[in-house]
Amino acid sequence: MRQHYDTIVVGCGGIGSAALYHLARRGRKVLGIDRFGLAHDRGSSHGSTRVIRMAYYEHPDYVPLLQRAYQLWDDLEIEAGNRLFFRVGVMQTGAPDGEVVPGILESARQYQLPVERLTREQSCDRFPLFQVPAGFEVVYEQNAGYLLVEDCVRAHGQLAQRHGADWLSPCSVTQIVSEERAVKVVSQEGVFTCDSLVVAGGPWATELLREFKLPLQVVRKPLYWFPTRDQRYEPSRCPIFVFEVDQKFFYGFPQHDSRGIKMAQHFGGTVIDDPTNLARDVDANEQAEITDFAGRYLHGIDFPFSEHAVCMYTVTPDKHFIVDRQATDPRIVFACGMSGHGFKFASVIGEVLSELSIDGAAKLPIDFLRLDRFAKN
Ligand SMILES: Cc1cc2nc3c(=O)[nH]c(=O)nc-3n(C[C@H](O)[C@H](O)[C@H](O)COP(=O)(O)OP(=O)(O)OC[C@H]3O[C@@H](n4cnc5c(N)ncnc54)[C@H](O)[C@@H]3O)c2cc1C
Repeated sequence: MRQHYDTIVVGCGGIGSAALYHLARRGRKVLGIDRFGLAHDRGSSHGSTRVIRMAYYEHPDYVPLLQRAYQLWDDLEIEAGNRLFFRVGVMQTGAPDGEVVPGILESARQYQLPVERLTREQSCDRFPLFQVPAGFEVVYEQNAGYLLVEDCVRAHGQLAQRHGADWLSPCSVTQIVSEERAVKVVSQEGVFTCDSLVVAGGPWATELLREFKLPLQVVRKPLYWFPTRDQRYEPSRCPIFVFEVDQKFFYGFPQHDSRGIKMAQHFGGTVIDDPTNLARDVDANEQAEITDFAGRYLHGIDFPFSEHAVCMYTVTPDKHFIVDRQATDPRIVFACGMSGHGFKFASVIGEVLSELSIDGAAKLPIDFLRLDRFAKN
């Protein structure tokens, strides 16, 4: 292991492992450092699956990034030789004046994306497992699906090493110092220097980039697996499902493994101060909320849940990511505040971070993700 690198990546979870991969592929002498190891369950990138979809209700500006992300996931799958992306489609339902359905239709309109609008009756015929509330609209996107989250992180990290990246983990970075000739990274395993630094600390971003005063909140997010004996929940027959209902946003996946179908609630969550000491027990109110949803809107589920996990969102005030470089030291680039919807973008944000580090600018439009948008408000 050398002492000086072209680029060091601090934090190699979902986003950082992808950055490490793209930097190594471009021939940079690169070091990845992570405090917990590759594809661990202590941050934001675990729990088996992540939704990926293109007609993006959150904002149409994400669509060009998603088009590239899809391509990069397909490329990664080929290079890794493992299946990472299951294109099972997504069925999304909500009130016509809600956030989700109008947002999907607007993104689809702007980018001519293929989505199907279904009446409630058509949806019940096609997806009899789901009970769509009266007056709701349904949109189906065939080109959506899910990614195997830990396998994707592992693929990026391992392929990065195959392309020449050095790897240091478990190891915590305790300080980042801008010096005239290099950026200094102080870690538990010694001091390293680099020409450019990528920081992708997930829930620890605030701690790693203290001087930025990042507008981030970390929230606790539980996931639940429910058993089912209904074979129509198999991935070949069941899409991902999203319900914007009762001012909440529930979503779930087909039965990917023997644990059953996985479900969660996207909005809200308990704010936490210390991501390293996250409470991982079952919260009775959260459990009641998801059980009530499953009982009211899904058929063929067995109760109680069979397994649960706890994860974290790192949320910005407008729920959009922050991808930028440090104003006072442009050698330092970072991605954080992925706001509970960032994993599907990991492939492309990894590439963007490599471009910011090597070329000084990204090929795709990312200005809407700059940090200074918060200073303007
Ligand atoms: C329950 C849940 C469901 C989700 N569902 C979806 C979904 O369906 N679709 C979707 O697109 N997104 C989804 N997301 C969001 C997505 O998973 C995250 O946005 C994404 O995984 C964040 O990746 P990250 O690299 O920012 O964070 P992480 O993966 O947590 O990576 C941060 C890394 O930094 C390391 N680190 C931190 N501090 C230090 C230090 N001092 N020294 C060294 N290393 C350090 C950590 O060990 C960690 O590995 C979901 C998130 C959760 C929690």
